[in-house]
Amino acid sequence: MKNNKNLRSWLNKMELKHPLVIAGPCSAESESQVLNIAHQLKNTDATIFRAGIWKPRTRPGNFEGVGKIGLKWLKKVKDETGLLTATEVANPTHAELAIKNEVDIIWIGARSTVSPFIVQEIAEALKGTKKVVLVKNPVNPDLSLWLGAVERLYTSNIKNIGVIHRGFSYYEKTRYRNNPEWQIPIDLQNQFPDLPLLIDPSHIAGRRDIIFDLCQRALDLNFDGLMIETHHQPDDAWSDEQQQITPDKLKQITTNLKIRDEEGNAIEYQNKLANLRTQIDMVDHKLTETLGKRMKIADKIGVLKKDNNVAILQNKRWNEILEKMILEGKENGLSKEFILKIYKAIHQESINHQNKLHQDQ
Ligand code: PEP
Ligand code: MN
Repeated sequence: MKNNKNLRSWLNKMELKHPLVIAGPCSAESESQVLNIAHQLKNTDATIFRAGIWKPRTRPGNFEGVGKIGLKWLKKVKDETGLLTATEVANPTHAELAIKNEVDIIWIGARSTVSPFIVQEIAEALKGTKKVVLVKNPVNPDLSLWLGAVERLYTSNIKNIGVIHRGFSYYEKTRYRNNPEWQIPIDLQNQFPDLPLLIDPSHIAGRRDIIFDLCQRALDLNFDGLMIETHHQPDDAWSDEQQQITPDKLKQITTNLKIRDEEGNAIEYQNKLANLRTQIDMVDHKLTETLGKRMKIADKIGVLKKDNNVAILQNKRWNEILEKMILEGKENGLSKEFILKIYKAIHQESINHQNKLHQDQ
């Protein structure tokens, strides 16, 4: 698949607002729940209604979706509100049923994108469809797997394609449910600048309070749209209750977002600057996180030294570290002076930590 302007054509043809806003509950629970939310969304920037009918759950025993009856409710949403509809398909039967029941937009979930077999089967079931098919990133941070899924659709003659960034599984606990790993969608955008890219801040965040910030960051990176889980009574939702927001809250979020125009030189400059600044912010975040981790290890060494009655300062070890880092610095385009300054500061902070430990104990 080559990058070409045609990849964007469905976005332009559908004359949807920019950024595109897809909203609706994690899961369709009942006809009245679906219609209630859809009617409230009519007063927001959302133009597409999402609801999961078949829910892939990490562990058995959780609510697994209402199944195909939900497709009739989606049809009602369309007839009563004029919103387009979207749902997830996870196998060829789902795909065929979604087409038959006039769902407008189909998405492939993160747990399906990981499996080339499943993606291939879905691509064949959808062969030649004019409907829009969105591909969520795989749960693991693997750009080739994500692009591979897009390619399988493309070679099945499906040309109205987009991708959704929903974050990646991470073993360590972080502030996110799924780590954003922004570098991956940035790389994807660099390779395929015309492939419409949306963010699903709900599944990245796993909570409500950082959804706005995630959306703003995505728009600063020129994303084309947002898919946000929205429920009339989020606390009582049957799935993902912690991350769903009300239609009113959605309205507040989209009203406050700063949308950057893509046209014009000055604006292009602003966009590029915002993009690069976001990359700097990410690196800074990693830097402080890494320094914090380093200090925690230094604390452990401090305890060990104290228990064994060993002096804090070990010159030989320190000189070895410095020599190694000067070499690594050179490989990374960093001067010797800079490395010496930085490491002196790091070393001093470690010693302060260890001294404090010795005094405290
Ligand atoms: C969803 O959108 O409700 C969903 C299950 O998402 P994901 O595939 O990103 O986990
Ligand atoms: Mn969900």
